[in-house]
Amino acid sequence: MKQDLKIGIIGGGFSGLCAAIQVKKQLGLDVEIIDKDTDFGGTWHANTYPGCACDIPSHVYSFSFELNPYWSRYQSPRQEICAYLRSVAAKYGLYQRTRFNTEVIAAHWIESDQLWKVTVRKAFWSAQGATYGETEELYYNVLFGAVGPLMVPNKPKMFDTFQGKVIHTAKWDNSIDMKNKRVAVIGSGASAIQAIPELAKEAKTLYSYQRRPAWVGPQVGDYYSQRTKTLFSWFPILMRLYRFLIFVILDRNVKIFNKPDEYNEIARQRFTAYMTKTLTSLNRKDLIEKLVPDYPVGCKRIAYSRIYLEGIARENVYVERSPIAAIKSNSIVTENGEEREIDVLVLATGFITQDYMGPLQIYGQNGLSLKKYWAENGFPKTYKTVTVNQFPNLFVILGPGSGLGHNSVVIMAECQVTYAVDCIRKMMKKNVKSINVKAERAEEFSNTLDKELSSTVWSRNCMSWYQNAMGKVTLLWSRSVTEFWWTTRSANLNDYEQVKAVKQS
Ligand SMILES: Cc1cc2nc3c(=O)[nH]c(=O)nc-3n(C[C@H](O)[C@H](O)[C@H](O)COP(=O)(O)OP(=O)(O)OC[C@H]3O[C@@H](n4cnc5c(N)ncnc54)[C@H](O)[C@@H]3O)c2cc1C
Repeated sequence: MKQDLKIGIIGGGFSGLCAAIQVKKQLGLDVEIIDKDTDFGGTWHANTYPGCACDIPSHVYSFSFELNPYWSRYQSPRQEICAYLRSVAAKYGLYQRTRFNTEVIAAHWIESDQLWKVTVRKAFWSAQGATYGETEELYYNVLFGAVGPLMVPNKPKMFDTFQGKVIHTAKWDNSIDMKNKRVAVIGSGASAIQAIPELAKEAKTLYSYQRRPAWVGPQVGDYYSQRTKTLFSWFPILMRLYRFLIFVILDRNVKIFNKPDEYNEIARQRFTAYMTKTLTSLNRKDLIEKLVPDYPVGCKRIAYSRIYLEGIARENVYVERSPIAAIKSNSIVTENGEEREIDVLVLATGFITQDYMGPLQIYGQNGLSLKKYWAENGFPKTYKTVTVNQFPNLFVILGPGSGLGHNSVVIMAECQVTYAVDCIRKMMKKNVKSINVKAERAEEFSNTLDKELSSTVWSRNCMSWYQNAMGKVTLLWSRSVTEFWWTTRSANLNDYEQVKAVKQS
């Protein structure tokens, strides 16, 4: 088939792979994927800390078009997720379509040519990080920005004064030996929850510094038996039903987040009961006051973990809630006057989440910077979370407005890709060269989303990485995934200004 459109995809994680596969499957077009890393996997390639796993059930945290009967666990470890993504990429021939070790520095929309000019440079990775080669320019009619929401590790400056080993969970160094060390873990988010039980097994002493502990809920399942895996592989319909059931249960939970007045108190009672019962059964009643949060459930990401409370209840683990007052060369001092000597400092301090696209600069019509445009507006404006006014033929996957607290973002990425592919299909059918979402459509969509988010639990008495400096929740979708699917199920090109292609005679 004659390929009229050149399609570039930045990113080889769940989002980029999904876009590449659906463009190929549904439109019969080839794509080019560009990824700065050495292989597919994205988040799951980059994060290698002990205990790293998804916290949403694997059967929904995977592609609907590539179900995997062989997930070993309810929440599978990163190695398995990476292996899954790589096998999917190989199945669709995407290794041959990908430039690895290639970082996109900038993308410029060239109005006169109706093209994206993408500037890349080769990245050479070593233990010290990356060094870079010459830049090169690539051109695409359509560009997917699938660079991931969690990319740049957040490393607060205050820890620079520590002279011992410092390691961030997102840049793990497996050569650091934790055996018999005094380890401090800073943070209480998803990475800390997963790393603490593993590190505590090795460390002599583990100090967990928690400003705001996480709400912890029960993990429903654990390992799948061989019999279940065989049943799923022989009768995929069973696996599909199982996945659907999990999806429905998770999606109903959205009301804890977006109808906090009605449902949050019920959730608080349930989570409090679970945490209290578990800590009591572990003979650590003393931890109840320290670990049961005082903010609404869901404000920060909820941890569904079987082993976290067991890990933190170990004799060699100490929970410190007093804020950190100073970091000395080999110790941490807290406001209650405690000073503890530390050998290894683990920063489980998450990511810089409001600087969308990380160092990548995207310039739309008249050289408008996407970063600046999103930052200046207070709330990053998009249409249906996928397209952006003045950035023609750009499709953003898992950018602002599409994160979740209650379900799998892989399904969100699939919905966004469905919408983008429908746009491209209609462009091809109508001989349209570029589409630019009308300003009023984006305005209306973003204002509604902003307003809805302001009455969710994420906007209540809590500080989280979902919010920007103005306290606005920008990362998340406000409703259920089912409603997102409905919103993105098809595209209407009347929502877009269109530039028609000149017909070749
Ligand atoms: C530890 C951890 C656990 C998580 N667990 C869950 C979970 O259980 N459930 C859930 O829903 N979400 C979870 N998430 C969120 C997770 O980020 C998403 O689920 C998902 O992996 C995002 O996929 P992505 O493809 O959009 O981005 P990523 O996986 O981040 O992939 C982006 C890719 O883009 C590449 N890239 C970025 N910038 C450039 C550039 N300038 N040039 C070239 N390439 C570039 C990167 O190298 C990367 O390969 C978790 C995140 C982390 C960090």
